[in-house]
Amino acid sequence: MKNLIDLRTLTQLPDELAQRVYTSRLLGGDHSMVMHGGGNTSLKVVEDGEEILYVKGSGSDLGLVETADFAPVRLVPVRRLIELKELGNDAMIAAFRAALKHPHAPRPSIETLLHAVLPFKWVEHTHADAVLAVADTPHGADHLRAALGDAVVIVPYRHSGFELAKCCHQVFTRDATAKTIGMVLLHHGIFAFGNSAAESYGNMIELVGRAEDYLKSHAAWDIPTESRALPPAEIHEFAALRRDISRAAGAPLLLRQTGDPLGLAYARRPDLAEISQQGPATPHHAVFAKRVALLGRDATGFASVYARYLADHAPATPAWLPDPAPRVMFDPEWGLSVAAVNAQYADTAAEIAHHAMEIAWRAQALERYTSLPPREVLAAEIDYGGFELKIRRAAPLSGEVALVAGALARRDEIADLLEQGAAVIGLDEGEQVAALFASPAYLGFSDVKNALSRGIHQFGGIDRLLGGNERLEALCRPLLALSPVTRGH
Ligand SMILES: [Zn+2]
Repeated sequence: MKNLIDLRTLTQLPDELAQRVYTSRLLGGDHSMVMHGGGNTSLKVVEDGEEILYVKGSGSDLGLVETADFAPVRLVPVRRLIELKELGNDAMIAAFRAALKHPHAPRPSIETLLHAVLPFKWVEHTHADAVLAVADTPHGADHLRAALGDAVVIVPYRHSGFELAKCCHQVFTRDATAKTIGMVLLHHGIFAFGNSAAESYGNMIELVGRAEDYLKSHAAWDIPTESRALPPAEIHEFAALRRDISRAAGAPLLLRQTGDPLGLAYARRPDLAEISQQGPATPHHAVFAKRVALLGRDATGFASVYARYLADHAPATPAWLPDPAPRVMFDPEWGLSVAAVNAQYADTAAEIAHHAMEIAWRAQALERYTSLPPREVLAAEIDYGGFELKIRRAAPLSGEVALVAGALARRDEIADLLEQGAAVIGLDEGEQVAALFASPAYLGFSDVKNALSRGIHQFGGIDRLLGGNERLEALCRPLLALSPVTRGH
C-alpha cells in the first residue's frame, strides 16, 4: 500500500477544503480502497466563528470528488444528535439537511453523524479490500488485533446511520487511547483520522498496509493468476440465461461474460458452493452484486430462493424491495458473468465482483470467509439500492439490446437508442463502424460473425433488429425468440 501524497502539491493548494478534495481523490482513485460511491471523508473547520463539518455528499464518487460535492453542515446541532437514545435514519437525514449551511448543498453522507462525533479534524472512511479480507473471518477481531495492534478500536457490525454512529461513539469513548489512529467496522470497512490532511490520509495507508502485510505473512495474499483461455459461452445458451434472469427481474437486463481470469479460477474452486454463498464483503457491494451469486445457469431456481430471503428478512413496511434476480453468476465453463441495467453498471458489477473474489479468496486462505447476517444485507440493499428504478424511469430502453445493420447510415437512430438507454451492436462494411460511438453501450463490427458472438458475450442477446436483410434476419430469428422483451402488437 503506497502513500501517494505529494507534499509539495498539497502545500500549494489554496485551502483545507482543496486539500480534502486532493487526498479524497487519492483514496478514491485506488479501487482496492473504495469503489463506485462507497466510502466518505470529512474535514472540520471554523467559518465566521462557527464550527462547520464538510462531509462528502451521498452518492458522489470519492475518486472524482469536487469541492462542491462536500456538504457543509453546522457541527454543533449535528453532534448533539448522538445524545438521543433512538433516531430513525429518515429523521436523522432531515436533521442533517436542517443543519446545512447552504440550502443547495448536496445531501450529506449517511455517516455524517459518525464523522461529526470523532474528535479529529480530518476523517477518512474506506472499504479497503485488505482490511475486509482480515475482518471477514470467524476470528476477525483477533486477526485485526494481531495485524493492527492498538492503533485501532474494533466495532461490531451495525447498520449504517444512527445505529452505527451510536455504537462507534460508545466503542471509541471506551477503548480509544493516545495511540488510536483508526477504527475497524467488522464486515464493513475502516476509518482513519488525524490532525492534518497528510497525517489522516497517511494513517489510512498505514493501517491498510499493515493488513496487507498480515495477509502476506500468513500466506493469504497471493492469488494464482494462471490465465487460462476462457471458453466463450454458446450464444443461444447465453441468451437463454439472459432471458431467464430478466424475467426474474421483471425487466430486461444486459448479461456479460466478463472473461476475467480470476472469475474462471474462482468458479472452479472446489469450495465454490460455500465461499460464494456467504454474503457480500461489505454491504455496499450487495447493491450491485446482490447478497449471493448464482452458481450455474438456473436463474429461476435462484430467484425463488432469493424471494424467500426477501420475504424472511424484509421490514414490515419497506420503502421498496429489490427484485429476486441474480447480478453475478459463476459457471465452471463460462467463468464470471454479470447482469446489469445498462453497460456502465455491467462494468461496475464486474469490478465489484472482481474485488469481492479477491477478498473472499484471501479471507478463506487466512481462515475462512464469512459475511454479515442476511437481514443486515437486505437492510443495506434497501437503503442504498433503487438506482435501477431511477435509470429505467429516465431511460426506458435500459437493459435492451438492438442490432443495427447499415449502422453508418443510421447514426441518428443509434444515437436515439443509446439516449433511451439501449445497448447497440452496430454492423456495417468498413472499419469506421467500430468507432461510430464512444460509449460502453455501443459496439461496432464489420462482420456478422463478430457482431453476433462478441456482441452477445458483451450484452447477452438481441431484442430488436434494424435494417437487416433476409440472411441476417434468419440468423437472428432464434436469438430474437430468446428476447425477454415482449411487445404488444
Ligand atoms: Zn462504508
